[in-house]
Amino acid sequence: MSFNLNKIVRSSIKGLKPYSSARDEFTGKADVYLDANENPFGNGLNRYPDPYQKALKKEISKIKNICEESIILGNGSDEVIDLLFRAFCEPGKDEVIIFPPTYGMYQVCADVNNVKTKKVPLTSDFEVDELSLLETVDEKSKIIWFCSPNNPTGNTMDPAVIKNVLKCFEGIVVIDEAYIDFSDSQSWIDFLEFHPNLFIIQTLSKAWGLAGIRLGMGFGSKEIISVLNKIKPPYNVNSLTQEKAIEAIGYLDEKNETIDAILAEKAKLKEKLNQIDGVQKIYQSDANFLLVKIDNATNIYNKLVEQSIIVRNRSSVTLCENCLRITVGKPAENEKLLNAIKEITR
Ligand SMILES: *Cc1c(COP(=O)(O)O)cnc(C)c1O
Repeated sequence: MSFNLNKIVRSSIKGLKPYSSARDEFTGKADVYLDANENPFGNGLNRYPDPYQKALKKEISKIKNICEESIILGNGSDEVIDLLFRAFCEPGKDEVIIFPPTYGMYQVCADVNNVKTKKVPLTSDFEVDELSLLETVDEKSKIIWFCSPNNPTGNTMDPAVIKNVLKCFEGIVVIDEAYIDFSDSQSWIDFLEFHPNLFIIQTLSKAWGLAGIRLGMGFGSKEIISVLNKIKPPYNVNSLTQEKAIEAIGYLDEKNETIDAILAEKAKLKEKLNQIDGVQKIYQSDANFLLVKIDNATNIYNKLVEQSIIVRNRSSVTLCENCLRITVGKPAENEKLLNAIKEITR
């Protein structure tokens, strides 16, 4: 296959002249800034943030081993997901492919952008159905959305399948790696240089414990990134977020310690849940949550809510009948949950 980025960029964006902010026009260091109509009386936050987040990208590039021109940052990965739709899908005409059950934002962003999703359901063991995918892809398909490890199922998608798709598909192949830091699998970032159509999404919201600052990361070829840079809102990542993210990246060891603690708790939680009557199956998870098939899931969900314990009821989702998605909490929280479920199912 020959991937031609120009062929898939939305026509209105190809010729788009991006908004040029004050901080775009002058990027050096100056003594006096009278160019952006900011308030001169400083409180530490009176200046606009760096629109390209250069200092933060420098830190990310070191830990991800990738050049800064291959990184785009967003107000959460949700913004990065939306940017991809807006860059590559012509509303009312183009289509994307998703593999339900999967992360809900792909469908929401598709709907907002008036882009049709073609659904290729996962097999019963939550793998991609390659034959069905082949039958579904056509010339309107612009993006294929893999989520690996997948939410809500927790499993990592077969790399051989993704490799085949990367080789054959002439659109963008997105791999959402929101949970990659909890998994033993290698990130697809290491394969970026071999696949011009590969795009990877990560986030500070899960393993980094920073859902509140809203920082999502996209990794792709310099060409793809420059298209996205053209259409993103100029100051999409605020100063506080940029500062906090730089600080957090300096504490890599602490982050890895919390990951180890969460994984140890996950193993314990799984073992204890398995001893409870009514638990039919706990799916293998490479993430920080467990998908649990349990008798009368909705009833259990409601009873847990009454006890002020909130899990995610996924019972109405494709292939997830009677399934609860349970995030691994702190030891005392997991203990509370286990006791409550035991009590309810007794
Ligand atoms: C939680 C999650 C995200 C994170 O989104 P943010 O906007 O970065 O908080 C992205 N993708 C998947 C699959 C998720 O589960």
